[in-house]
Amino acid sequence: MMPAIFVGHGNPMYAIEENEFTRNWRKFGESLPKPKAVVVVSAHWETDGTKVTANSQLRTIHDFYGFPQPLFEVTYNAPGNPDLAREISARVTKTTVALDESWGLDHGTWSVLRHLFPEADIPTIQISLDRTKDPSEHYEIAGDLRFLRDQDVLVIGSGNIVHNLGLIDFRNRSGDDWAVAANNRLKELILSGDHESLIDYRRLGREVQLAIPTSEHFLPLLYFLALRGNGEEIEAFNDVVELGSISMTSFRIGN
Ligand code: ZN
Repeated sequence: MMPAIFVGHGNPMYAIEENEFTRNWRKFGESLPKPKAVVVVSAHWETDGTKVTANSQLRTIHDFYGFPQPLFEVTYNAPGNPDLAREISARVTKTTVALDESWGLDHGTWSVLRHLFPEADIPTIQISLDRTKDPSEHYEIAGDLRFLRDQDVLVIGSGNIVHNLGLIDFRNRSGDDWAVAANNRLKELILSGDHESLIDYRRLGREVQLAIPTSEHFLPLLYFLALRGNGEEIEAFNDVVELGSISMTSFRIGN
């Protein structure tokens, strides 16, 4: 069965920088059997209703402001896979999944895939986050995506388990106390498989509330967790909190 990952994508600049995080992304990409396709649930595509990209070629979306020009010049020209998009739409029964030809790859996807699969030759699909659904519904939808791992498809959740842009400090190389506490609490629940508490994250206290002021960077984690088999091994990597309020902590299941 194909592994699956949740990636803390962090600063968009990591798309074009080399650092400990990008080196680990590259290493992960090299450790995998070549996937038949990649399916990404990114924090940066929120829609009314769930959508799946059904284009045969995906454009590179530069969905950020105020970054240096070279970042706007990055392209990641992965092909799509319309057949797989239709299959996803058919096999997800917990909600209606609409075929979409307007989206492309947002930076939650390409800033990471550039390092994982620099050749951009693996068909890539994005699934959107339905902003009208609550966390338990997202987790249920994600359960319908388990078949993908059997078909050698790599599923990636791309977000950040601690993500508070209001409290970010680009000069801070470490995390604020509350952010480190939230990261450790969430990591513990993830590694111990306590999905119920994670789905109900709004009850996890003040630090976690600060870590997840809005749900979009956290929900991709639920898509990843729902793919974990009973007792299947899980490990953390890039376990670092930085910029005061951003956790890069990432997780992998499967070998
Ligand atoms: Zn982001």
